[in-house]
Amino acid sequence: MNRETIKQIMQSEGILPQSKFGQNFLCDEEIIQRIVGLCEIKKEDTVIEIGPGLGSITVPISELAVRFYAYEIDNGLADYLSSNLTNVTVINRDFLKVDNSEKHEADVVVSNIPYYVMTDIMKKLFGEYSRARKMVFMVEDEAIARIDCGPNSKQYGPLAILCSLYGEYRYEFKVPYTAFVPQPRTTSAVISFTRGESADILSDGFVKFLNACFAMRRKMLRKNLSSVASAEAVDEAFSRLGISGTARAEELTPAQFAELYLKL
Ligand code: SAM
Repeated sequence: MNRETIKQIMQSEGILPQSKFGQNFLCDEEIIQRIVGLCEIKKEDTVIEIGPGLGSITVPISELAVRFYAYEIDNGLADYLSSNLTNVTVINRDFLKVDNSEKHEADVVVSNIPYYVMTDIMKKLFGEYSRARKMVFMVEDEAIARIDCGPNSKQYGPLAILCSLYGEYRYEFKVPYTAFVPQPRTTSAVISFTRGESADILSDGFVKFLNACFAMRRKMLRKNLSSVASAEAVDEAFSRLGISGTARAEELTPAQFAELYLKL
């Protein structure tokens, strides 16, 4: 889908991009094709997309003959997509409110993520859809610092730990703001994740555990864990795993969080 097509659809459908939903529509055919290629979709796959917008990524994926579900919060966009696309089930929902009973297990997840909810969407995906083989995202380039970082750095937290445990991370390529209608203020980036064995630990419970561990970053981890387990259980787990009683959450590696979660 190119700039002209996007503008035509917006005009004929009376659609005005809503900044409150982070609507910047991708209009560069080459970038769209590269994103779809990175998804490595097989015929038998179930694919989910978060935020299909006007269908820039949705249309080429719907042509790959897969089970395909797309979650769109905006009623107007969801109506437009449902009436114009075949081979995709458009679900008019805030993805963050989709619960387990409505969930479709996915092999591949793709999203040009609405930047205002990037962290929450990625945490939900890694917590609840971690059986997926591949995840491909467009994010704000400056958000990479929160995704690809290690212990003892300022940005290290639940998101970086989930990304690291899910599997192999790749920074694929930068996307200039000129590739969107309307144009955002910042540069974007496409990133991909391929599932690895350490993803087995990921679950909604594990995400909640990480959130508790980082609830008060400056406090000692054992204090934050008082909402998770008894002081005795925490001390016992720390000594078995060789974690200092005065450690802060930001000092532990992703693998240590996985071990600690299993022990508690
Ligand atoms: N995928 C399209 C593209 O690449 O052109 C649109 C991407 S736009 C950056 C983000 C899309 O996510 C918008 O269509 C917006 O309405 C939708 N969106 C925002 N918040 C959402 C949420 N919580 N659940 C589902 N969709 C959401």
